Amino acid sequence: MIKTTRKITICGAGLIGPYLAIMMSNRGFEVEVIEKRDDIRKATAESGRSINLVMTSRGINALKKIKLWEEAKKITMPVSGRMMHSVTGELTYQPYGGEGDVNYSISRTELNRFLIDEAERIGVKFIFGTSVISVDHKNKVLMLESKNGEKSYPYEVLFGTDGAGSVVRKKILSLHNAKDRVDWLGVGYKELFMPTTDGGKPRIDINSLHIWPRGKHMLMALPNLDQSFTMTLYLSSKEGEITFDQLNNISDVENYFKTYHPDSIEHMPNYLEDFKMNKASKLGTVRTDHWFYEDQMCLIGDAAHAIVPFFGQGTNAGLEGCVVFNDLFDQHESWESLFSDFFQTYKKNADAIATMAEENYIEMSEKVGDEKFLRRKKLESFLHEKLPSKFLNRYMMVTYSNIPYANVYEVGKMQTEFLDSLNIENNDFSNIDLFKVGQFLDSVIVEKLKK
Ligand SMILES: Cc1cc2nc3c(=O)[nH]c(=O)nc-3n(C[C@H](O)[C@H](O)[C@H](O)COP(=O)(O)OP(=O)(O)OC[C@H]3O[C@@H](n4cnc5c(N)ncnc54)[C@H](O)[C@@H]3O)c2cc1C
Repeated sequence: MIKTTRKITICGAGLIGPYLAIMMSNRGFEVEVIEKRDDIRKATAESGRSINLVMTSRGINALKKIKLWEEAKKITMPVSGRMMHSVTGELTYQPYGGEGDVNYSISRTELNRFLIDEAERIGVKFIFGTSVISVDHKNKVLMLESKNGEKSYPYEVLFGTDGAGSVVRKKILSLHNAKDRVDWLGVGYKELFMPTTDGGKPRIDINSLHIWPRGKHMLMALPNLDQSFTMTLYLSSKEGEITFDQLNNISDVENYFKTYHPDSIEHMPNYLEDFKMNKASKLGTVRTDHWFYEDQMCLIGDAAHAIVPFFGQGTNAGLEGCVVFNDLFDQHESWESLFSDFFQTYKKNADAIATMAEENYIEMSEKVGDEKFLRRKKLESFLHEKLPSKFLNRYMMVTYSNIPYANVYEVGKMQTEFLDSLNIENNDFSNIDLFKVGQFLDSVIVEKLKK
């Protein structure tokens, strides 16, 4: 048990910082969180509007650990499948899994407010409107900047939960003489909005994640609690059929929507204005080989492993990381050995979900029309229906289980190879020898997962 530290300082009150603060406060530490933005709870509804998140098993498990899931669930919208919109307006519904396999859509802002409220209620101190601009590790002093100017501020142990552009990560890397790697996907996103009807009703099915897939670009809609939808447009940032750079004036934007997403236009009365007002952001994966420095600094969440959003797992992974960190806590006498164990344990999982999220973008953008790929997807659904306790595809393992991501990645590859080896040529699966499939799953997959 680590006994000598009194105070823990966390840099960043996004989604992971306040969660970690609750866990550490529950362990009896005095916890403070320094956040560069002003208090999000005081933002107006308009300025606080933000992208939604999909909360799945790992995030839910993390909230259960601090006994907050039942409360948090009240601000979510259950989503049970994908609704695909074709260019000509046909809808195809794909349930996520079996009965009870549900994801939860939640506003990032609402979740952020909820976690900060809970942390504050148990005594965590928040310092808003203040950036950490540098770290003096020799004297254990932070340089802070706020509208009142700069000041130095001591710390005992510092956690960097300051997101993809983490200042704490840069400091840790400089101490190891190392650099991080950012792999840009070449895809950007912009947020749009679908309000309710005048009568306050949803304009499209409220329990679905809606996708307008168009190869390298797509539109997505996730439901909000008030029955409106947050829309996200993903476009290539530089190359490809359609890029943000090409949509410079309003008539280009209008043409783009009329050509590719005509059925969405009537539901988004302000889409042109939203497009003009909201800026496009880039998507990338951050990979770094150093998450900690001696016994004084450690990264958690996007600061350690920012990933692209095509598996909806960034927050889920960050929260799962906190759970792993907390589970390891009692086995260590020093911060350094705890940080090191956390890195050894979770880095491989963070790497696996980063790769799977990149692969999922390719699946969503390039393989939606690939016959062999679609047949395998159907075969996976068929096998899950016939052998529900044995066969989970990769999506199900990521989303509805807490199987470590690295094992999911490995097992997913083995399953794909096995299914491809069955050489199924059409969508008639009646001749599949389910006994043989069951044997393979028992002997290889179930055994592997048990280990
Ligand atoms: C389009 C999109 C869709 C997504 N969808 C999903 C999804 O469906 N499901 C999912 O699980 N994840 C999703 N994610 C990922 C998710 O948003 C991130 O993984 C998550 O926000 C990471 O939380 P964090 O607290 O680590 O970092 P952040 O949320 O980035 O928070 C970092 C905080 O640190 C503060 N900060 C930064 N620098 C400093 C500094 N120097 N001093 C003080 N404070 C500082 C920032 O102001 C911020 O509040 C999505 C991401 C994107 C871009």
